[in-house]
Amino acid sequence: MTHPNDPTLRSFIDVDPTLDFPIQNLPYGVFSTADGLAPRVGVAIGDDVLDLWQLAQDCRIDVAELGVFAASTLNPFMALGPKVWSRVRARISELLRHDNPELRDNEKLRRRVLVPMADVKLHLPIAVSGYTDFYASKEHATNIGVIFRGKDNALQPNWLHMPVGYNGRASTMVVSGTKVRRPRGQLKPANAEVPSFGPCQRLDFELEMGVVIGQSSTMGEMLSENQAEEMIFGFVLLNDWSARDIQQWEYVPLGPFQGKAFATSISPWIVTREALEPFRVNGPEQKPTPLPYLQQTRPNNYDLQLDVDLRAVQMKQAMRICRTNFKYMYWSSVQQLMHHASSGCAMNIGDLLGSGTISGPEKHQRGSLMEISWNGTEPFELPGGGKRTFLEDGDSLALRGWCQGDGYRVGFGEVEGTILPAQ
Ligand code: MN
Repeated sequence: MTHPNDPTLRSFIDVDPTLDFPIQNLPYGVFSTADGLAPRVGVAIGDDVLDLWQLAQDCRIDVAELGVFAASTLNPFMALGPKVWSRVRARISELLRHDNPELRDNEKLRRRVLVPMADVKLHLPIAVSGYTDFYASKEHATNIGVIFRGKDNALQPNWLHMPVGYNGRASTMVVSGTKVRRPRGQLKPANAEVPSFGPCQRLDFELEMGVVIGQSSTMGEMLSENQAEEMIFGFVLLNDWSARDIQQWEYVPLGPFQGKAFATSISPWIVTREALEPFRVNGPEQKPTPLPYLQQTRPNNYDLQLDVDLRAVQMKQAMRICRTNFKYMYWSSVQQLMHHASSGCAMNIGDLLGSGTISGPEKHQRGSLMEISWNGTEPFELPGGGKRTFLEDGDSLALRGWCQGDGYRVGFGEVEGTILPAQ
């Protein structure tokens, strides 16, 4: 049987080569329609959503527990484990192939299981158990370090030895399209004697990938590279909204807290680790060699293009403010997961790991406004007038990502969020 990643596969559903969801992708999401049925699990194909619950009802997909596709999150399906993930993906691929009449020629079934994406509402695809955010791009950490400590002490002494991270909030994880209210917090500008409480003045985004953990680990046990790998269900785009002024005053000595707790946005479609397999690349050389528990034998980075577009209220068209690539990340997702469990910390199904802001070596590859405007000292012009250093009310930000194959792309769609004024 042809592998679902085969670049020559074609579906009976036509998918333009510049679109994100060809038969080689098959990302999972949770959707509902105007029919009033509860949110359920689907797969994106072209401009349609394939309803897995309806397919399973019709005995077209064989999973031991039928209920997993009637669920309003992917957690029950993820619990079935990587062998089932693979088998189900292969079956969906088979059903959608151009040379398989099973669904192609069954108009009644096709009408029931294929829903135009324009007619569905997409929901947060997982029940987020825990959210951890890392700081794993050397370029990003260096830029931030230069801004705050100067060139000679840019990287903290621990940075080259471990993936630095903090435990964030799962409670404020939202799906793309959810509006984000400007947070309030304690602020103390450099020239102020005492702090005050009010709306954030330096609201930022962070371009990240989110790693969806699909299997749990046992408290007290470390993970091997293979175990960590197998626990990763897939990836989403992630915008780690950040209040820089709140963060700067609060972060000593325990790290980010309220400045990161008000909202984190993710894209609705989870692209599986298996679909990204053809796009694996080696990350940057790690020097010094990491400690043995963090060493990896496989290329664990991905050649994944990333764009960030900003649109202010008065702008007709969005402007590109960043184009970079996930492959620049110094610490891989597998290393982050091995490090996370190394103390004995248990991982849960539905945990989400933020990769950390993804910046690259070039100026146009900076993944936050903090870096793009160099801490507000280098404002940039908006087409049609106006300037930006940080986000203003009404600004809309969209992150997009895709892996380019030969004649097709495995894409993530987008994660968008618009800023509402503070309450
Ligand atoms: Mn972050």
